[in-house]
Amino acid sequence: MEIFDYLILGAGPAGLTFANLLREKMPEASFLVLEKETQAGGLCRSADVDGSPLDIAGGHFLDVRRPEVNRFLFGFMPEEEWNLFERDSRIDMGTYETGHPFEANIWQMPQEEQVKYLKSIALAGCNLGTPRPEKFVEWVTWKLGDRIAKAYMLPYNAKMFGADLEALGTYWLDKLPDVSFEETLLSCLNRRPYGTQFYYPKKYGYGELWRRMGESLGDRILYRKKAAGLDPETKTVTCEDGSRFRASCIVTTIPWKSVQRYENCRPDIPEKIGRLRSTGTEIRYVPKHLDTKAHWIYVPDPEISYHRILVRHNFCIGSKGYWVETNLDRVTGSHEGIAFRNETTYPLNTVDKPGIMADILSYMEQRQIYGLGRWGEHQHYNSDAVVERAMRLFERIALQRA
Ligand SMILES: Cc1cc2nc3c(=O)[nH]c(=O)nc-3n(C[C@H](O)[C@H](O)[C@H](O)COP(=O)(O)OP(=O)(O)OC[C@H]3O[C@@H](n4cnc5c(N)ncnc54)[C@H](O)[C@@H]3O)c2cc1C
Repeated sequence: MEIFDYLILGAGPAGLTFANLLREKMPEASFLVLEKETQAGGLCRSADVDGSPLDIAGGHFLDVRRPEVNRFLFGFMPEEEWNLFERDSRIDMGTYETGHPFEANIWQMPQEEQVKYLKSIALAGCNLGTPRPEKFVEWVTWKLGDRIAKAYMLPYNAKMFGADLEALGTYWLDKLPDVSFEETLLSCLNRRPYGTQFYYPKKYGYGELWRRMGESLGDRILYRKKAAGLDPETKTVTCEDGSRFRASCIVTTIPWKSVQRYENCRPDIPEKIGRLRSTGTEIRYVPKHLDTKAHWIYVPDPEISYHRILVRHNFCIGSKGYWVETNLDRVTGSHEGIAFRNETTYPLNTVDKPGIMADILSYMEQRQIYGLGRWGEHQHYNSDAVVERAMRLFERIALQRA
């Protein structure tokens, strides 16, 4: 069995970034990427549907707020190949639509509604100085007041996370926009939206960027190689087809649970891995025109199965139709048409997760096995955050070992 310097599990944004940094900056290092699918890109892949690209695990947009990351990514797909958009995301409240995030767009409502919402926020726990709750469902009312909680945040998140909503903690909420009460008041007085920008490729889907990153690795990616066993003591990976690979260092970006067998491993580690939770999402294409300028629309109504509509023709110029995103547990019956089923899309931030992950990562790191990215760290990271995490891990382990 050939022994590599690095074995990288998974060719999503995290694995692709780490592998390309090795290729660019350490040409003498031997490495191999193992990927279970036939294509690179992970959750960021796109497919051609009805003549235009569709992001098969849900709408993906490149954030503008990490310039170092964007410079690196533009090395694979130059900035001229991207359109820059001013984000227009909305919430469908049934009888009216408002901008997202809700608390920054109250100014769009009739004045008497604004007063009711502002009063409710003023009475929220965070503005009255009561202690911050540890469970997400209680935190929502504490942070945003009972009106936004009941009208949008709780029904929307119940659709996204299903029964798991009750199990979520609050330590991950830096992911959500943090709009203070003062900023909410100012937006009502100034009648000004809260905007941010994003990139989407001009001619392709988001997946094209990652496809090119995979291509640049040539035969150093093996496709259809599903890691099924891991021996942390010998750093050996066994794939479903029986092939085995060994390395001095392993970077794993795949869900810890997707490995069925942990051999020679402290017994509490597989047990802890078994307690990690995640949800899945179905992406369904609808070949109809939606008359709106929004890029995407959040749908909190519990009677409607999907939670988000992606209005493709507003960010993928020249395309038709739209797609909807639904938690797999809410998908019922058989539907006609084109759909993509993704089993693991959102790592769940349950109350016990930080302790579980700290134990797994420290045990593995002592054996030069590093968890990286959305699944390796079991964190709700976006792709730009994952690329940044890969850059920092590369500096910490690869450059230091050289
Ligand atoms: C609905 C949705 C919308 C999103 N929107 C955005 C957005 O607008 N902007 C943004 O930047 N990010 C967005 N994200 C987040 C983005 O998808 C992730 O940050 C990114 O894909 C994480 O990259 P990763 O490499 O860590 O994981 P992944 O992309 O999941 O890659 C993991 C790879 O491992 C492979 N793998 C899994 N198991 C095995 C195995 N046993 N053996 C071998 N290979 C295996 C998978 O096939 C995959 O290729 C969104 C995510 C979702 C679900």
